[in-house]
Amino acid sequence: MPPKAATKTRRSRRSKKPGVTISDAIRLLTEQYGPFENEPRLDPAHELVFTILSQHTSDRNSERAFRNLMDTFSTLEAVAAADVADIEDAISGGGLARIKAPRIKEVLGMILDLNDGSLDLHFLAEMPMDEARAWLRQLPGIGPKSAGIILSFSLGMPAMAVDTHIYRVSQRLGIIGPKVNADKAHEVLEAAMPPEDVYPFHAAFITHGRQVCKAQRPRCGDCVVNYGCPARDEEAIRQATAVVESAAPDAPTHDTADTDQPDGQAPGRRRRRKDAPTPVPHTQVVKELQP
Ligand code: SF4
Repeated sequence: MPPKAATKTRRSRRSKKPGVTISDAIRLLTEQYGPFENEPRLDPAHELVFTILSQHTSDRNSERAFRNLMDTFSTLEAVAAADVADIEDAISGGGLARIKAPRIKEVLGMILDLNDGSLDLHFLAEMPMDEARAWLRQLPGIGPKSAGIILSFSLGMPAMAVDTHIYRVSQRLGIIGPKVNADKAHEVLEAAMPPEDVYPFHAAFITHGRQVCKAQRPRCGDCVVNYGCPARDEEAIRQATAVVESAAPDAPTHDTADTDQPDGQAPGRRRRRKDAPTPVPHTQVVKELQP
């Protein structure tokens, strides 16, 4: 929920300086949702095509479209040589096929032109990251987020990929300012943390945005970083705290960072899973697509 009018002045003053450091946010959110796995996944050209298919559609749709594309053509070289209409048919289950089919054809053709007839993009990993990103961004329809996904997820480089969840959570926490647009956020966030924190940040923030800091109704009472969030909903936190106190009257009291969870566990004390690491949503989808 956006800040309420009654506390607007106080909150807008607070929002100039985040009360949660990036490193604390990564640590607390990883304790809450992690550990996160980061496995090598699709090779970069396949990741690039998958990324185009995932634009403006759901994971399920993009997965279905990618799977059918590869079932139909077997190789990306065959996709590059195919008629746009046949590509469109193959990806029709994924949404926006009329836009994405010519884009995929154009991108693959351009890579072949720029890369001596090869679709192997592993050479990007040998380049300085800014150059690798610029190389990808010359391709039609590849913006900073798509380039970041390919560099980070496929090539293991510390590139930021800011999706809608990461952008929203970062703004609410005051890590990026209200006037920083999504493209600029890549630069700002990448410069704000050491390279080794980029992937943990991505995994932690996207998971938090999907599970708790949702666009319409953020669950601030369940949020482990609410103690320093300029956008927190005080009423939701108060209600969550009241619930846990009434459920466990003899329990020790906690500060606002340690408020209730739906299952009655405080965030810092929530039962940690000891089994498998938490897959990042994108990781989970792509893993299923690997041969
Ligand atoms: S307190 Fe947590 S859930 Fe609420 S707006 Fe801030 S980051 Fe999001």
